[in-house]
Amino acid sequence: MSSELNHPGGKVRLYVEAPLGAGLRLDTGEGHAHYLLHVMRAKAGDRVGLFNGRDGEWLARIVQTSKRACVLECEKQLAQQTEVPDLWLVFAPVKKTPADYIAQKATELGVRALQPVITRRTIVSRVNIVRLRANAVEAAEQSGRLTVPEVRAPLAFDKLLETWPRERRILFCDEAGEAPPTAEALRAAPKGPWAVLTGPEGGFDPAERAALRECDFVVPVSLGARILRADTAALAALAIWQAVLGDWC
Ligand code: SAH
Repeated sequence: MSSELNHPGGKVRLYVEAPLGAGLRLDTGEGHAHYLLHVMRAKAGDRVGLFNGRDGEWLARIVQTSKRACVLECEKQLAQQTEVPDLWLVFAPVKKTPADYIAQKATELGVRALQPVITRRTIVSRVNIVRLRANAVEAAEQSGRLTVPEVRAPLAFDKLLETWPRERRILFCDEAGEAPPTAEALRAAPKGPWAVLTGPEGGFDPAERAALRECDFVVPVSLGARILRADTAALAALAIWQAVLGDWC
């Protein structure tokens, strides 16, 4: 009997690159085929959700399977394409586990882009953007998003400020104090494109803090009296932004 495939979190949804439209067929590629056939034990006739960041969400039926491949055919559109609010996360890379966590949770919280920034006190020397992207894809699939955030190549701090698109405000999470609470600052701030900026384990260097505070597009804020770990700080700030200026309000 054919059915809609479910996992404990709900309907199985896959992110694909191929165009989606009534009657269109696509080969899932080996990774997704393994997941469908061997992890989910899917059979021909089973249905899954598909999205590609452009064509909305489609219900698709498995029409052909072999050991390493799975062909799907789009049957009907389940949702029109939508976009998340225009919010980026700019973060100093941290160790592997918190970095995976940041990529997953920031995706769930609805960021459009993840931009690693190398600050003076950044310890991590290599940023694995392929791994960050894989985490973002997985989180987009399970959270019902219709897009995967763009994962950008790391930029040095100075370069980031030099090339920054000035119409996009930066919510600068400054652990050193002398900044208003985040929600209060955002309530007084304009809508439009924003980015949350968080530092590495060792925090921002005084010169970096000074440079940030000189920019008219930077809004310094505090996340309270306790020092949060970089991953906690990033997610807390994203949640407050969504609640005050994003799609939680
Ligand atoms: N080692 C530093 C803390 C760095 S925490 C120290 O002891 O001061 C890592 C990053 O999280 C910081 O750079 C900042 O961007 C953010 N952060 C952590 N706690 C914060 C707070 N209470 N307010 C604002 N930002 C905070």
